Amino acid sequence: MPDFRFDPISARWVAIASNRLARPMEFVPLKETLSSDIVCPFCKGRESETPTQLEVWDHQGQRVEAAGSDIDWSTRVVPNKFPSFPSDAPMDPFDTKVLSDFIQDFGPYDQSRRPGVQELIIPTPRHVSSFGDLEKSEAMISWAAIQTRFSVMKEKNGIEHAMLFMNCRSAAGASLSHAHLQLIGSPVLSQLMKDRLCRNQRYVEEHGKTLMQSVLEWEQQQRTRIVTETEDFCVVCPFASRVAYQMWVIPKHSFHDFASIDREMRDALALLTRKLLRRLDRSLDRPAYNLMLQAAPFGATDNDHWYVEIMPRLTLPAGLEWGTDIWINPVSPEDAAKRLRR
Ligand SMILES: [Zn+2]
Repeated sequence: MPDFRFDPISARWVAIASNRLARPMEFVPLKETLSSDIVCPFCKGRESETPTQLEVWDHQGQRVEAAGSDIDWSTRVVPNKFPSFPSDAPMDPFDTKVLSDFIQDFGPYDQSRRPGVQELIIPTPRHVSSFGDLEKSEAMISWAAIQTRFSVMKEKNGIEHAMLFMNCRSAAGASLSHAHLQLIGSPVLSQLMKDRLCRNQRYVEEHGKTLMQSVLEWEQQQRTRIVTETEDFCVVCPFASRVAYQMWVIPKHSFHDFASIDREMRDALALLTRKLLRRLDRSLDRPAYNLMLQAAPFGATDNDHWYVEIMPRLTLPAGLEWGTDIWINPVSPEDAAKRLRR
């Protein structure tokens, strides 16, 4: 029997409906199609195809200054050639006095041309698609680059929040198959983020700990939705998983501010995300997925508990999800965790 579950972290209702797996299906689920006439701009030797790099890391995990195709690089960070946020401000976009000039009223609407920042982190010169395909050293060096760029973004005037994500394969929104992560610095805060801030603040005031700490304690008692656990992290399929095989990588300590975690913890996170995505690729025949670093807006980390979210894209949101934001998940998180533990 389906049941309704409430996720306190996102404040969303989800219908867990395992019975839907028995439905007759006429359509083939999300199929990957690759165009063969695209030359990959992220592969070694094609460095000139991207905008000038912001940072380059070598195989020893050192940042190198000069860079071009002659450098034997492991991770490159470049500006997004096709940004989704405004970035063409005619004046210095990070001057606070100028920022206010970009906010305009337009009838009943608010409009803003505040610039954002959009960077791509290319974690390997090799043409592989999944984070799980990376070498261990590549995974660790790319997370070092992520933390560095995240910290740089934190210092930028006018950037409220950073979202690090990876779209792997076309059904997850990727336009190129070469593995790449995106870091977006947003000049506006979404309502989702504002609501989450309020919920977290209220919870800490009432309980003296973060909401995620309570979730973590409960999951550690129940042990039915835990995929794996290490000294630093606990991986769970959340109680109200919105999609099948959704996973949260929850830090057990140093959870207020991702930017300030130490190297040991960051390396552990890199190896764990790689391991989980290898396992996902193997268990579910290399599905499309999104990976996201869920962290509080800058300057509001005191009540927050950052975590990494992995969302496999095995089904499409349809009318109910778009219309009500109530999601239907055909695989219970208990079954998903059991399969991912194997
Ligand atoms: Zn490539």
